[in-house]
Amino acid sequence: MVYDYELLVIGSGPGGQKAAIAAAKLDRRVAVVERPDMLGGVCVNTGTIPSKTLREAILYLTGLDQREIYGQAYRVKDEITVADLTARTTHVVHRENDVVRSQLARNRVTIIGGLAYFVGPHSVEIDDGAGRTRKVTADKIVIATGTRPARPASVAFDDKTIIDSDGIINLDKVPRSMVVVGAGVIGMEYASMFAALGTKVTVVERRDRMLEFCDEEVVEALKYHLRDLAVTFRFGETVAAVEAHPDGAIASLRSGKKIPADTVLYSAGRQGQTDGLNLPAAGLAADERGRITVDEFFRTKVEHVYAVGDVIGFPALAATSMEQGRLAAHHAFGEPVSANDVPQPIGIYSIPEISFVGRTEGELTEACVPFEVGVSRYRELARGQIVGDSYGVLKLLVSPEDRKLLGVHVFGTGATELVHIGQAVMGCGGTVDYLVNAVFNYPTLAESYKVAALDATNKMRAITRLSG
Ligand SMILES: Cc1cc2nc3c(=O)[nH]c(=O)nc-3n(C[C@H](O)[C@H](O)[C@H](O)COP(=O)(O)OP(=O)(O)OC[C@H]3O[C@@H](n4cnc5c(N)ncnc54)[C@H](O)[C@@H]3O)c2cc1C
Repeated sequence: MVYDYELLVIGSGPGGQKAAIAAAKLDRRVAVVERPDMLGGVCVNTGTIPSKTLREAILYLTGLDQREIYGQAYRVKDEITVADLTARTTHVVHRENDVVRSQLARNRVTIIGGLAYFVGPHSVEIDDGAGRTRKVTADKIVIATGTRPARPASVAFDDKTIIDSDGIINLDKVPRSMVVVGAGVIGMEYASMFAALGTKVTVVERRDRMLEFCDEEVVEALKYHLRDLAVTFRFGETVAAVEAHPDGAIASLRSGKKIPADTVLYSAGRQGQTDGLNLPAAGLAADERGRITVDEFFRTKVEHVYAVGDVIGFPALAATSMEQGRLAAHHAFGEPVSANDVPQPIGIYSIPEISFVGRTEGELTEACVPFEVGVSRYRELARGQIVGDSYGVLKLLVSPEDRKLLGVHVFGTGATELVHIGQAVMGCGGTVDYLVNAVFNYPTLAESYKVAALDATNKMRAITRLSG
């Protein structure tokens, strides 16, 4: 059987793009199907890129991260409008769309505009949205269709007052007040950004804590900072109803409280985009959250069909999706693929930002793994003083048995970049002694690794000394 393509990728987000490019580098005939207005996926158009650009615009225009130096009244612009914010996001999104299009073109990957659905195990039909369909066949298929915000049926979203994370980038004014429902990563990133803009934010979370996969002290530090920006937290509370009114909305909590707000942002999980794929035609099915199950090589139960990215669930990050795409393509075309068991970093672009790699104190304690803690505070680093970050902290968790790093947790300026030093040391099996002996540029925030390593080794030495 001769197929139209050796690989067909459905969805052009990070997972789909990297699968397509990896296969093209192996000289395969590859096509990617995507809606014409969504090249680059959720990542480029509605998720990672617009949200991170918005954050950068907010930090710059509010002058928030310069206020330790220039005083609390410091601002680059007094009245920040939505136009100020969208100018930067639109610019970056267009540039990124262009980068994706050019990378695919350079690698001779065909882009087919439209939405694909299976009509057989090796064939899909593509609806171009203008009433035309075409059938395409492929030897291997990668599903990389991502997710969309989950919308509880009980909530009347109007994309103006009651919105989800897709609606944030279309707001026509900066709200004076906002209720954020759900204290997950996306909820906390947007809560931080709007709080920085001066919006009175209330976060409602049905669990008793937030970001429970992060270091507890770091999460406490984030809460402290956000409270300082007038954020109110309502943990252990559930939103029972939201009423839209001409000038805002009222969120009623199950406990009887009512919270008025200009905008209510629902950030309550995401749903796999598989309902339009007609999966049974390929012999597949999704779970109730629209996710597809895969093996360690990202292969579904139908051997020639792979799935990567958010559609397979945790960790649902752009970086992990890219790597999954690359590995799936390599596996599909017989390239050697080693199971990737090196620790992967997590980045949370709250204000201040959080990043970590490896395990938390809580996880290690629960598993009865002994560890020593080494801490470095930015306020004791010359670079911390220069950039005006007195709150940042880097924490190393070190095994007293083999002196290897068990976890690295960073809070503050540059956390999502700094974490990679620790990740590299961990990935190469290095010990805390490497960091003690390393010479870092001065003055840098990276120097915090050496300070924290010295702290950990001094504590370990004290134990050795006392125990003779
Ligand atoms: C607000 C927000 C902020 C985020 N911030 C970060 C961050 O800071 N760092 C990070 O690592 N991750 C972040 N993420 C997560 C990140 O965006 C995702 O992990 C990543 O985009 C997933 O990539 P993917 O390959 O699964 O495809 P996606 O980017 O989800 O794209 C899937 C694409 O498939 C297309 N598609 C769906 N069905 C079909 C079909 N039938 N036919 C053709 N095409 C189809 C869709 O149109 C879409 O373009 C964020 C997400 C959101 C929502």
